[in-house]
Amino acid sequence: MTSYPKMLAPLDLGFTTLKNRVLMGSMHTGLEERGDWNRVAEFYAARARGGAGLIVTGGMAPNREGGVFPGAAGLFSDEDIANHKSVTDRVHDAGGKIAMQILHAGRYAYGPECVSASPVKSPISPFPPKELDEEGIDKQIKDFATSAARAKRAGYDGVEVMGSEGYFLNQFLVTHTNKREDGWGGSYENRMRLPIAVVRAVREAVGPDFIIIYRLSMIDLVPNGSSFDEVIQLAKEIEAAGATILNTGIGWHEARIPTIATSVPRAAFTWVTKKLMGHVSIPVITSNRINHPEVAENVLESGCADMVSMARPFLADADFVAKAEQGRADEIAPCIACNQACLDHTFGGKISTCLVNPRACYETDLAWQPAEKPKKVAIVGAGPAGMSTALVADERGHEVTLFDRADEIGGQLNMAKQVPGKEEFWGLVDWYRTMLAKSGVTQRLNTEVTADDLDGFDEVVIATGVTPRDPEIAGQDRDNVLTYIDVLRGKAPVGDRVAIIGAGGIGFDVAEYLTQKGDSPTENLDEWLAEWGVADPAEQRGGLAPEGPQPEAPARHAVLMQRKAKALGKGLGKTTGWIHRATLKMKQVEMVGGVNYERIDDQGLHVSSGEARENPRVVECDTVVLCAGQVSDRSLADALVAKGINPHVIGGADVAAELDAKRAINQGTRLAAEL
Ligand code: NAP
Ligand code: SF4
Repeated sequence: MTSYPKMLAPLDLGFTTLKNRVLMGSMHTGLEERGDWNRVAEFYAARARGGAGLIVTGGMAPNREGGVFPGAAGLFSDEDIANHKSVTDRVHDAGGKIAMQILHAGRYAYGPECVSASPVKSPISPFPPKELDEEGIDKQIKDFATSAARAKRAGYDGVEVMGSEGYFLNQFLVTHTNKREDGWGGSYENRMRLPIAVVRAVREAVGPDFIIIYRLSMIDLVPNGSSFDEVIQLAKEIEAAGATILNTGIGWHEARIPTIATSVPRAAFTWVTKKLMGHVSIPVITSNRINHPEVAENVLESGCADMVSMARPFLADADFVAKAEQGRADEIAPCIACNQACLDHTFGGKISTCLVNPRACYETDLAWQPAEKPKKVAIVGAGPAGMSTALVADERGHEVTLFDRADEIGGQLNMAKQVPGKEEFWGLVDWYRTMLAKSGVTQRLNTEVTADDLDGFDEVVIATGVTPRDPEIAGQDRDNVLTYIDVLRGKAPVGDRVAIIGAGGIGFDVAEYLTQKGDSPTENLDEWLAEWGVADPAEQRGGLAPEGPQPEAPARHAVLMQRKAKALGKGLGKTTGWIHRATLKMKQVEMVGGVNYERIDDQGLHVSSGEARENPRVVECDTVVLCAGQVSDRSLADALVAKGINPHVIGGADVAAELDAKRAINQGTRLAAEL
């Protein structure tokens, strides 16, 4: 008997059967817009081979005005049908099923042609939408139906109608964005007419034996969102209109409550989906922060849904389901919900990939074969760069030795995992530990390597990482001045008032670590919901607590500083920076930009402002923490070069600026693919 009986049970839809209860949720990868359809096909086929029960594509616009941005992919012509057919054929050949998501962005569209129920500009697009007239609404309904019919011709097994996350159909549902006084606005019966009409038209266009998933917003997390009675009413009407499955949407994109970031507890919103169970007779899917088979199994076992949706976990590991089936769940590369290589790329106009798995969306480009001539490879540094090099080099048949002076693998990941809200990093280090143990890599921990120790290796890879930058502040040698390493390793006591020098990713992390009292809210769902002001949607419209966020009092007073005269946190992740800033605000952290650090003495940290060094101020504090960035540790690389050996230098040892695990893992993987 399998360890995940619920997750791996088939789902009979009457006219077709899904082989398990795992939906690969829709993600915009940016691949379709590049026009390399072989690459698109290989991306989805790999996930089909990896066992996903049903794949949903990235959002395809039903028409030009509904595209998320000008030029967004859709299914607009017969040529498009042929391209999409190449994808569905490959997925079917791999034993999978695939549905195309139809996504109309409405006022979220990043283009001047955008349309909506009313001309209410969204906070996340500069373009106010045009209000649709009766004819315009009719056109949108027809375009959804035409798109679905084309999807059927392109060989898809179904479509997903995107009705949540604050997109077009959602915009008609709530008074927040629907100010109409005609038959499409006013009463809830009028406001819900559009999604029902769309599903009905889609069903008419595709006939009976075709999957229609409707993505229903269960909790809008915006003011004047839907009430739960309205959600249930809509769910029933959507079922009656012909939907096969209801998928769950959590929060509008403009919501100021995180819904998928790493600091969101695992399966944080499945209790909301559970409230829908029993109200409809079609299967219900739940989603958000489900990233491990055990989590999925528990969610299904506790009756929260009939099926689970996971999206980003299929970037991290295409073989998620297959590994679970084969009793190899510990080998599933974990999605740590960082958004760094997927959503941050999407919003930066880049192709999505994955921090943990640089092959995601690069399946046709980053592939490796067994090495023609196995070599002896030394890798110094068991951080993300070194570990990923080691695993791929070993897989290719090289004889790999991985050295580190520390007594554990992980490098800087071991510091990240200490930060409240970054608990997923524990799983990532565990995954590397498992994979290294199962590989042929020889690990030499507690080993300080010199250049002479590396004689006899065919290839030497230096992944020695970084050391903290010396900010050269007068008085920094005092006992109460610590580095972020001292703090995050818990090596030194920190007083009640702390001054943090440097507001990069690590300064923010240290501020979160030092102001959090007791356990991390990420580990305690009730506390997390209260902290962000999430209420039971059955009691509060849209699920917003009337009292707002109720954060725990900070553990200590912190002042976070940088020399740049800019708002702090500008360099953080595009989709997560606002969460870090909001978290520190809730912890009453004072954020100060444009300072000069003058000196540290008994009074505290002396700072001044601007080039003229005006407005001297003493930041009274018991402890000063240095988070002033890093410099590459190249001492071993330099010693090797002096000996006439040319090592490969990767990760932070190569470039310290903006060092991050994404670049380190990508660089290590690509190097090992070539060694
Ligand atoms: P960083 O992002 O480069 O930030 C360094 C900070 O130190 C800046 O605030 C900088 O601001 C300040 N600084 C630089 N030189 C200084 C000097 N001589 N004296 C005083 N202050 C100085 O580096 P980090 O915070 O160490 O993070 C390293 C990398 O880890 C990041 O780039 C990021 O990729 C990754 N990371 C990301 C996150 C996240 O996104 N949540 C979290 C942790 C780590 P001023 O120059 O304005 O003073
Ligand atoms: Fe998950 Fe981060 Fe990979 Fe995105 S980049 S799929 S969030 S691990």
